[in-house]
Amino acid sequence: MKKHLSIKSFIKKIPKAELHLHIEGTFEPELMFKIAKKNNIELKYKSIYELKKAYKFNRR
Ligand SMILES: [Zn+2]
Repeated sequence: MKKHLSIKSFIKKIPKAELHLHIEGTFEPELMFKIAKKNNIELKYKSIYELKKAYKFNRR
């Protein structure tokens, strides 16, 4: 008779991947400026337009 794995040992054996995101990477430029202003933080981007340019990534 085949012994079934417990859910714990099954989970231990299966391959894993770590998925995460960096919260600042989820900010739309407008929101980044809004939050920076609210917290009196100076951004290295002078305008929303300049920041939007920094959001252009190359896809390979
Ligand atoms: Zn990371």
